Amino acid sequence: METMKAVVKTKPEFGAELQDKPIPKPQPDWLIVKVRATSICGTDVHIYKWDPWSADRIGAKALPQILGHEVAGEVVEVGSSCKRIKVGDYISAETHIYDPGDLTSMLGAFHVGKNMKILGVDYDGCFAEYFALPESICWPNDKSIPSVIASIQEPLGNACYAVLGEDADVAGKSMVITGDGPISLFAIGVARVCGVAKIIHLGKYDFNMEIARKMGADLQLYTNQTTAQERLEFVMDHTGGDGVDIALEMVGSQDSINDCFAMVRKAGRLTAFGIAPESPVPVDYNNGIVFKGCQIHGINGRKIFDTWYRNRNLLASCRLDPTPVITNIFPLSEFATGFEKMLERPRKSAKVVLFPDKAEYEAAAKFMKE
Ligand code: ZN
Repeated sequence: METMKAVVKTKPEFGAELQDKPIPKPQPDWLIVKVRATSICGTDVHIYKWDPWSADRIGAKALPQILGHEVAGEVVEVGSSCKRIKVGDYISAETHIYDPGDLTSMLGAFHVGKNMKILGVDYDGCFAEYFALPESICWPNDKSIPSVIASIQEPLGNACYAVLGEDADVAGKSMVITGDGPISLFAIGVARVCGVAKIIHLGKYDFNMEIARKMGADLQLYTNQTTAQERLEFVMDHTGGDGVDIALEMVGSQDSINDCFAMVRKAGRLTAFGIAPESPVPVDYNNGIVFKGCQIHGINGRKIFDTWYRNRNLLASCRLDPTPVITNIFPLSEFATGFEKMLERPRKSAKVVLFPDKAEYEAAAKFMKE
């Protein structure tokens, strides 16, 4: 049996191990991809730490399991009933394996479909030399996009969906974006290229605040150095006293949720992306939503495949440059260092990308230097 290196969650506790595993074989409507680049997601960090969410969502019984879901790679084998994707194709993966027969999917909202399964959560993931995935979730990449960038399109899709909402009506508008994480930083870049006229970023870590400026934040506030009242006054001062057209809540903390409800103008849009550590969360229902007449937009995943299509075009045209957010790259064997970077507080990293292949890693290192 042919084997490969893979990062495996073996025990229901902190950490993971690099192991030799059999190279997977495809089911009829699945295919096998040789991984060129794979990035670490917040979800992987939850599983790596084995926090209550992952203990509940995955459970010790599912172990051992290979981590990872954000990827760019080359198709090396296709199952007997695959039609659209061919051997040699350069692909990334929508990680939500939707059920096309469920009502939500049939009505076009594939990303929140009922019997949703997730790559690297419900199935073995892509922190490996090879991995298997259904043809239905393959997204063909533009060949000009380097693998280090193609691997981060999945979280970039979250950012794209959060910024554009359902109507993509953002050009010339003002936007608050909260948080220091990679998706907040990507969202700033997407907002910039999509013509948002004023981007106000609320963060707290120097390292990430600087990345936010590189991505196009116009104004910034440190949430750990200001009061809620000071933040609100600042936003009102910069929006003619009306508040912002759109507020992206990307932290999930009570303070950030309060900020967004207070800062969004009447008849504006509040996008809820951050996950609160505990729910329900109190909000000012009457003044914050009803009398304000604002739209509340929940984001779970990416709009399949609308955000993939837009991001591929934005990346291939080089209109959108996500490289400032990619702060660290490592060979796959150094995955533990990658997770350490992700867990470090105060934050001194954003996106970390891993490479199973040495030549691919060296090419990415060269590209990131240029
Ligand atoms: Zn992800």
